[in-house]
Amino acid sequence: MHKCLFFDSHCHIDFSEFDESRSLLLEQAINFGINKMIVPGITLAQSKSLIMRPQFYAHVKNYIALGLHPYFLNQHKAQHMDELIQLAILHKDKIVAIGECGIDSSIGDMDKQKSLFIAHIQLANQLQLPLIVHHRQSHHIIAQAFKQQKPLYGGVIHAFSGSLQQAKAYIKQGFKIGVGGVITYERAHKTHHTISQLPVESLLLETDAPSMPISGKQGQVNTPTALISIFESLLHLRSESKEILANQLYKNTLEVFNL
Ligand SMILES: [Zn+2]
Repeated sequence: MHKCLFFDSHCHIDFSEFDESRSLLLEQAINFGINKMIVPGITLAQSKSLIMRPQFYAHVKNYIALGLHPYFLNQHKAQHMDELIQLAILHKDKIVAIGECGIDSSIGDMDKQKSLFIAHIQLANQLQLPLIVHHRQSHHIIAQAFKQQKPLYGGVIHAFSGSLQQAKAYIKQGFKIGVGGVITYERAHKTHHTISQLPVESLLLETDAPSMPISGKQGQVNTPTALISIFESLLHLRSESKEILANQLYKNTLEVFNL
């Protein structure tokens, strides 16, 4: 039987949580058909380290993005965005996106978050790259930022949760919707409804490992193979067959990151 292939569009496989288990986990991933992943940037130092060893995990093809994650706002010094811009320009051929970036309402200093986010959008536009956008109770603030600085090359709204109307507004602006562990939880009714109604061409799969453990694994380190459980949950919500859904998700990911 033809085995489906999967692309984890968001996996922090470089995190130290995986230092002991990385090889094993990636071997497991490839056995499940997960043969590609995107590794996002989170800080300047970590973005630099991604550039230095982009093919560290040879058996699963990994692509990298550069960004300053709003969650680590305290670590981002005034000059870090300028340095990130220089790094991205210098190594444009090694990166497939700008991010992750965005707005997180659980972190303070909204002015700093907003100006950083706008700078990421400008950088993505300048380099003709898509964005990886983090949100947490911030769809309205992201909408304002998009009005102020229009993203020209789309991207993904990572770990989407929200209403159908919110998702459609992003799709209209060229974005895909990142489907992650949220949908494995029975209580996620609104997100289930949204994801079930969206065009299949607008969906991407992602784990966000080691964050966002799936249902039944709360409190544990999330791993790349959780992508298969997320896919199974998605399959449940959709009318497409397994093969058609898997192929379309894979194709969508290649398309949005221009691979
Ligand atoms: Zn992430």
